[in-house]
This record gives sequence, C-alpha cells and structure tokens, in this order.
Amino acid sequence: MHDHAHHHHPHTHPHPHRHSRRGFLSTALGTAWLGFSTLERAALIAGRARAQSRGPQPKLFDLEKVADGVYGAIARGRAILNCNAVVFENSNDLVVVDAHAAPSAVYALLAQIRAEVTQKPVRYVISTHIHGDHTQGLPGYRKAEPKAEIISSARTREVLAATGAARVKSAVDNVPRSIENLRQRMASAKSAEEKAWCAEMIAQSQAFMEEMRNVTAEIPDITFNDQMTLHDKAHDLHLSFRGRGHTAGDIVVYCPQKKALASGDLLHSFFPTMGDGYPRDWPATLRSIDELEFEHLVGGHGGAQQGKQRLPQLKSYIEELIEVVGKAKKDGMPLERVQEMVTVSSLKSLGGGYGEFLVKEVKRLDFRVQLNTPEDVAQRGIRENVTAVYRNLDRV
Ligand SMILES: [Zn+2]
Repeated sequence: MHDHAHHHHPHTHPHPHRHSRRGFLSTALGTAWLGFSTLERAALIAGRARAQSRGPQPKLFDLEKVADGVYGAIARGRAILNCNAVVFENSNDLVVVDAHAAPSAVYALLAQIRAEVTQKPVRYVISTHIHGDHTQGLPGYRKAEPKAEIISSARTREVLAATGAARVKSAVDNVPRSIENLRQRMASAKSAEEKAWCAEMIAQSQAFMEEMRNVTAEIPDITFNDQMTLHDKAHDLHLSFRGRGHTAGDIVVYCPQKKALASGDLLHSFFPTMGDGYPRDWPATLRSIDELEFEHLVGGHGGAQQGKQRLPQLKSYIEELIEVVGKAKKDGMPLERVQEMVTVSSLKSLGGGYGEFLVKEVKRLDFRVQLNTPEDVAQRGIRENVTAVYRNLDRV
C-alpha cells in the first residue's frame, strides 16, 4: 500500500459569477434560444431554477438498506448519468464507494444520508474506477468532508492523475452538442411528454455545465495494487483488484460479515459499458469475483441485486460476444455488418430473462432513454457492446 499524502487546498469561490437565469440560458443556448416558444422558454427557466435552487432538491438517489449497516444509494435517472454509491456504516464513521458525476450529487447524497441514516462523518471514499460518472463528484467530498481520504487502485490513480482534468473538460465540452440535439428534438417533439422531457434534459445539462466550469479534478490519496483491508469494529471491508474488465483498474469492495459486495461497473444491472474495457479478461475477473461469498450486491448502475444470479449471466453474455464478434472480425466482416448481424434474438445469453432484466433496469433508472422503446434500449445496448468488443477484443 502506498500512502500518498497530499495537502489539499479546496478552492472556494466567495464571489461566484452570477447570471440572471434568462440571461445565462440565452447566452448558453445562443441563437437556439430564439427558436423557443414562450412556453418552452418558461419550461427551461423553471427547470434551471429548480436545478439551482438552494431549497429542497429533487432526490437524486433512493437510499436502500441492503444489509445491516450497508446502504445502496441507487441513482435516479438524470440527463448526466450518476453512478450509484454504496455506504458502509462503521462504528464511528462511514465508507462511501464512488462519487457520481458532479459535486452537487455528492452534496445531495450527504444530505440524504444525514436525513435518513446517520450523522456520522465520511472517513473514506473509495473510487472503483476512473470514469467521470464515478469520480467527477470527488471535489465535493474535499469540500463537504475535508477529512475523508480517497482510495483507489494504483492504476486508477495513475490514469486520473494523468487525464482527470482532460476528462472533466471533455465531459463539459460534450454538453453543448447534446443540448443542440435536444433542442432540435424539442422543436419537432410529437407529444407534450416528449417536449417536457427535452426541456428537463436541457435544464439539467445546463446546470451541469455551469457547475463543472469551476470544478477541478481530484485524485486519490491512498492506493494499493491487489488488495487492502479496512478494519472496523462493525465489519471489515476487503478492497481488491481482481483483474481487468470494465477498465484496467477496477476494484470491488467486499464485506464478509454482511455478505455484501460493491462491484462498481464490473457487474451491475445495466448493459455493461465496454468502451474502455478488456473483453477477454472480463470473464476471468468475474470468476474471481464469484469466489467472494456475497448475497447482496450493489453495482455502479441500476438496482441492488440479491444473490449471484446475474454474475454468470453477464459472464455468458460477454463470452458469447467475444465468440460471435471475434469470429466475424477474424473472417474480415466489417463492423457495420457485425452490428446488423448481432441482435437481441441472435444472442442466446440474453435469453432466460437476462435481456428483459437489463432493459427493464435501464428503462427504470436511465432518464436519457426514458422515452425509448424497450426494443430500442436493447438494440442500443447490444450495438454499443458489439462495437466495443470489435474494437477492444485484442487490446493488450
Ligand atoms: Zn464506468
């Protein structure tokens, strides 16, 4: 275990830039603003006011007790996807796994923990992997819980130190394009529901962009290579790197006394995200996770799981993709053909209820596809996975 002691000087902004709401929106949306009707403008201003208000916020999480002293903070759908958190309650403090897409989500979770669970302070924040929806909120812990230390794998810290700032910048830089797409969709929306969804998506995206302009990326204080244990009177927490999968450095957090596992994005209730993944390593990593005797699981996205049912299902799905996509690629089939060839019905591993489970969870908890049909959600999930496997199959 390397202990990187860092001194942090949390940036404070005593004089934040103030924009009038209307002024900010018209500036940020540019000429797009002119394309909105009075009604649409009112919806955008209201959404933005809601997102920024210091009053009661909409709940961003459902805080569910999954075992004694273990809580899953299941992220509700947002325009900017938040990961779940897992909260382990020690005898005098808390350990929280993962930190969402923005500091405001961390503040919302902390307020919810205070209101619904305990006043105990956060001692450790564990980052399962590099992705922004799990790490961009870390600066929020620096401010709200300045004594908390951030733990990750050495590999994750290395990548965050090298690219964290660029990752935050690119997450923010991508927002205007997505707002422009939403604006176009809003203009041709076929229902009031679709129009309202677009307005809410735009308002949340704007609030995110404005918040993140002043946020600098944070990096972990404490790292380990393979495993480390946090001991407490209440329980032990075993942090371990079990092989590459979703990224090169994912870790899981296992509590043997409570038989609870925080599995990050190696195993969750949405389609796996494989764009930064190592498909050929992932099944073996899942086999290693299967050695842990867990009964309760909270992954990075989607609802909590009881039992181990989904682990072999995900493993079979990835193995089938490797087989089918691998063969097609070897035969020289271009990616576009493979994307057409591999479908919900062509994949055996999505049978037995697994495909339906994934689609249901995505529909329930990913606001970005709330209006999509189940068929579309499935097809998108598979298409993204096929593309990633095709590209990353033989990554070293
Ligand atoms: Zn991820």
